[in-house]
Amino acid sequence: MHHHDEEIVEFRHHLARWVDERLTPQAQALDESGEFPAELFRELGALGYMGAMYPESVGGSGMRFPYTAFTILCEELARGSMGFGAAVCMQGSTATHTLHEWGNDTLRERYLLPALRGEKIGAFAITEPDAGSDVASLRTRATRVEGGYLLNGSKIFTSNGTVADFITVVATVDPSLGAKGLELFVVDTQTPGFRVGRKLDKFSIRCSDTGELVFEDVFVPDDHCLGDGKGGGFKKAYQSLTVDRIFTAALALGTAQAACDAAVRYAGERKQFGQAIGKFQAVQFKLVDMLTQLEQVRIYTYYASALADQGKPITTEAAMAKIAAGDGCNEICQKALSIFGGYGLMNEFPAQRFLRDSYFPMIGGGTSDIMRLIIARQMSLA
Ligand SMILES: Cc1cc2nc3c(=O)[nH]c(=O)nc-3n(C[C@H](O)[C@H](O)[C@H](O)COP(=O)(O)OP(=O)(O)OC[C@H]3O[C@@H](n4cnc5c(N)ncnc54)[C@H](O)[C@@H]3O)c2cc1C
Repeated sequence: MHHHDEEIVEFRHHLARWVDERLTPQAQALDESGEFPAELFRELGALGYMGAMYPESVGGSGMRFPYTAFTILCEELARGSMGFGAAVCMQGSTATHTLHEWGNDTLRERYLLPALRGEKIGAFAITEPDAGSDVASLRTRATRVEGGYLLNGSKIFTSNGTVADFITVVATVDPSLGAKGLELFVVDTQTPGFRVGRKLDKFSIRCSDTGELVFEDVFVPDDHCLGDGKGGGFKKAYQSLTVDRIFTAALALGTAQAACDAAVRYAGERKQFGQAIGKFQAVQFKLVDMLTQLEQVRIYTYYASALADQGKPITTEAAMAKIAAGDGCNEICQKALSIFGGYGLMNEFPAQRFLRDSYFPMIGGGTSDIMRLIIARQMSLA
């Protein structure tokens, strides 16, 4: 792990200050309104944080440990607001990772560069109403035409979907091929035939935008296909989603940290029976269990990002990190809420938001049980 690297220490220090000064004070209002925080998004982009995972040659920050840096970004943002962290995570991870890995210079210039500056918003759309965990059964169709493809179909749960300038869409060039027929297409949302079906209202990470999208004869030129059009997209999507799991774990870590911080502070302030509730051993033990689990979540998450920085395989470790962090964050947030007593249920206290948000990492990017399936497959059991 690279926690003592000077560049990394500085990065976290400056970012943490931005989170404390700019994001945390707005987190509750953002949660209530459920509005996409466009202004904060642009501000963070202008400060140069969104390119933490990419080299300078494509407009990124050129950090020595790029995966660790992006993990810190997601963790710190989620300490303020997991909803905002998730919006940035989708932008800086899957939506741009696919462009960085497989996009040509034109696509990088037109979408990746402005996205890393926070000037354009990106999304990644694979999930459909009838194809969630079973990705290979997706039905959005890419039909070959002169000079490109026509996309037809619909996507659901697309993060940043209703505000996006570009969307990396996973579609099939031949449904009879299943997973082998998938390709990735970069769709400019100005293209005729694309429309937002609706913005979805939700219980968790409320200020992260979630949309249902419709594609009706959307023309995508040849050079917006991130492959040869023959169906190599499943592997690419899988690769991007594997990396993304580390960052979803980091979102869980950040919120778990915020829940622990809030609970420890509250236990020191709230008095019952003539003393701070933190003087009661039952409350102390609960806090200790929370902090112990928090460190497990941290170690799993940064172990996976360190492996990624070393170029090592991460399929198992990233999935383990997401299980440990997703489930761990949820348990920590339940305990945190209980320490707040009745105030834990009140909207003016953040404990209920932390608990609601903690459900996202257990589902987004593949459910915890799908993570277990992935690991079992790596063990040659499935
Ligand atoms: C807030 C939010 C943001 C999201 N953002 C994006 C995004 O930006 N882009 C995108 O493409 N998608 C996104 N998703 C979609 C997300 O990846 C899916 O919701 C997730 O993969 C689960 O799919 P599903 O909802 O269809 O559930 P289903 O696949 O229907 O699963 C339902 C239940 O069945 C279980 N299950 C399914 N198959 C198996 C199996 N083989 N073995 C055991 N159990 C199984 C699951 O674990 C789960 O408990 C987002 C989702 C949410 C909630």
